Amino acid sequence: MRRKLVVGNWKMYGRLARNQALLQGVLDGVRELRAADYAVCVPYPYLSQAATMLAGSNVAWGAQNLSPQEEGAFTGAVAPGMLVDFGCSYVIIGHSERRGLFHESNEIAAAKFEAAQKAGMKPIFCVGETLAERESGITEQVVATQLDAVLVRFGAKALSNAVIAYEPVWAIGTGKTASPDQAQAVHAFIRQRVAAHDAAVAQGLCILYGGSVKASNAVELFGMPDIDGGLIGGASLVADDFVAICRAA
Ligand code: 13P
Repeated sequence: MRRKLVVGNWKMYGRLARNQALLQGVLDGVRELRAADYAVCVPYPYLSQAATMLAGSNVAWGAQNLSPQEEGAFTGAVAPGMLVDFGCSYVIIGHSERRGLFHESNEIAAAKFEAAQKAGMKPIFCVGETLAERESGITEQVVATQLDAVLVRFGAKALSNAVIAYEPVWAIGTGKTASPDQAQAVHAFIRQRVAAHDAAVAQGLCILYGGSVKASNAVELFGMPDIDGGLIGGASLVADDFVAICRAA
C-alpha cells in the first residue's frame, strides 16, 4: 500500500501574522493524524517561519520553485542549497503557473527536477493538460511529453525519489474539479507509463491530484486506486479546510 501525501501549495499568498495562525491551525489539526504524510509549500520569505513552527512536527515544508544552478550571478533566483539550509524536504517543479506565466519549458522543469534531487529534496513534478488540449483529445499525449521530460531523461529510478502531481490546468483555481474517474484515468496512464520502464518504481510512485480539491470532494478523489493524495491550492490557505482534506487521506 502506498502511503498518501497531502501538500498545500500556498502560491503567492501569506503574511507573517496570517501564516502563524494558519500554521498553528494546521499543526493542531494534523498532530494526531498518522495515516498519511503532510506538507506545506510556502513562499520563500516564509521558509524560516515554517521551519521554526513546524520543526519536530508531522508536517513537512517545502518551496514552490528553485533555480537549477547551484550558485552564481543570477539576481533574484534561489539556489537549491538555500532551500536545504531552511530544512525543505519538498519543492514543487513545473507547476502550470510556472510553465504558463513564466514560460518554463519541459527542459527547464527537467533541469530543476535534477537540481532538487541533487540537493537532497523531493521534487513534486507537476503535469497536466489545458482545457483546449483535453477538448482536442490530446490529454495523454501532453502528459506523456511532460512526464517523459524526466522519465526518459533521467530514467525511472529518478522517480523513486519524487512525487508526480497531475493538475489539469482547467481545474486549477476554477472550482471545477476533474471527476474521480477522469483523474483516475490519467493517474493510471502515468503509472503505466512509468511501469513500462520499471514496474517496482511505478508501484511505489506517489501520484497526487491537484485542481480544486476541497474537503467535500477529497474522500472520493483519494479513494481512487491510483490517486495517492493531493496538491492543494486555495483550500490550503484555510486551516480547517486543509485539515479536513488531510483527514480524508
Ligand atoms: P486550487 O486547489 O486552488 O485549484 O490549486 C491547485 C494547485 O494549483 C495546487 O498546486
